[in-house]
Amino acid sequence: MFINGEWCQAESGKKFGVINPATGEGIGDVADGGQVEAERAIQAAHSAFGDWSSMTAYERSEILYKAYKLMSTRREEIARTMTVEQGKPLRAAMNEVKYGADFLLWYAEEAKRVYGETIPAPRGDQRFIVLHQPIGVVAAITPWNYPASMITRKVAPALAAGCTIVLKPAEATPLCAMEIFKILEEAGVPKGVANLVTGSDPKPIGEEFVTNPLVSKITFTGSTETGKLLARGAADQMKRVSLELGGHAPFLVLKDADPVFAAKGAVLVKYLNTGQACICPNRLFVHKSGVEAFTKEFVSRVIKMRAGNGLEQGINIGPLVSEKAIEKVERQVEDATSKGAELLCGGHRLMDDGLDRGYYYAPTVLSNVTSDMLIYREETFGPVAPIIAFDDDDDVLEMANDTHYGLAAYIYTQNLSAAMRTFEGLRFGIIGINDINPTGAAAPFGGQKESGLGREGGHEGIFEYLETKLGGFSV
Ligand code: ADP
Repeated sequence: MFINGEWCQAESGKKFGVINPATGEGIGDVADGGQVEAERAIQAAHSAFGDWSSMTAYERSEILYKAYKLMSTRREEIARTMTVEQGKPLRAAMNEVKYGADFLLWYAEEAKRVYGETIPAPRGDQRFIVLHQPIGVVAAITPWNYPASMITRKVAPALAAGCTIVLKPAEATPLCAMEIFKILEEAGVPKGVANLVTGSDPKPIGEEFVTNPLVSKITFTGSTETGKLLARGAADQMKRVSLELGGHAPFLVLKDADPVFAAKGAVLVKYLNTGQACICPNRLFVHKSGVEAFTKEFVSRVIKMRAGNGLEQGINIGPLVSEKAIEKVERQVEDATSKGAELLCGGHRLMDDGLDRGYYYAPTVLSNVTSDMLIYREETFGPVAPIIAFDDDDDVLEMANDTHYGLAAYIYTQNLSAAMRTFEGLRFGIIGINDINPTGAAAPFGGQKESGLGREGGHEGIFEYLETKLGGFSV
């Protein structure tokens, strides 16, 4: 752990093991912290807040810029740690490290652009001035699926704004978090400003985050269930919260789309991170006129995918995170086929060539999926693509919006009016239009409905860590 500028073990001396999900082998032991360490880290962040928030934006920016340079230089090293710890193919890990570093660069720049306002006041002898000030100590919790970029997406804007931070990474991926905190240390982040608390049990750490009055803000990326739990806890002291939660992305291939072009995009984004991304399409709605061509192209690409250890060349399907994840996928596929879905490929766990040591599931395609199936309602977080044919572009908007999630959605069409109408009508926070990667450090990422609160990235991202203050002056 990294607390108050020092690398340390848990007070209890306990450690927990990190496993390579591709092989089931142990790859390291990490300090098993809990409430005591979380409290110590919060205290350190609180003590460091005064000096850090008083530094100029230029000084903070310079440190973030150094961190960006270091992360860029160490791109491959961190990517290798990520592949071994999380399972994604090395090329995907390299992309993630780049994406993660981009947040350090973006917020090194945005730190200098926290502009206030002067507003015409109702009285002649009055002046209104608005300024934005750092919230205070931030407690952050991050997931395992993007173990580097989800950290910089929180740490960079928090530090840029002048906040101090305590971060708890997912128990499955503490090694990437350690790499990033080494970078922050080397870049010159002063002691206590950024603290890392690792632990095998998130509950006592999360509990300390929500109950400790020194914490002003909770920022979380993970499941909707845990997000709600934290938001309920945070409500007691009215702590600020930002939540990036689950998704159930619809992928709409409208009547005027090129179904083959759409299928090429759909395959890439569906199997991204083996389906373990909150923006992965979970429901592929294809207009009946294009469904045959779409399905043919989609399946022809899926059967060429190769599952295996992400350190090997040519692998595009890594392992799932756990046995539990395999079980969820198996349950959804079994439920769908028992209710009439057609299995076009995959549909089973992969056990040959040593894959039985990891959590591998074959990339799977289901057609004839209907609304009574679990996979139509539940987030999958695995490599299963359910294809749903529809009759009318007007109806599909309602079908796509029929979920309590609202993170990402995708529209494919060559018709500009249809694209605009659907873009405006979808109740989702991030929408790709003939595009499968509507993300980037400069763009606001976040969900509507039960997919979350607040935005990360973009110029919005820094305001999650700032309070607005109005001054009314009599002159
Ligand atoms: P997932 O199902 O994607 O693992 P989780 O919401 O369980 O999603 O995990 C995301 C992050 O939330 C991880 O860092 C995990 O340790 C943390 N977490 C899980 N449960 C709690 C909890 N009760 N309090 C605080 N953090 C939690």
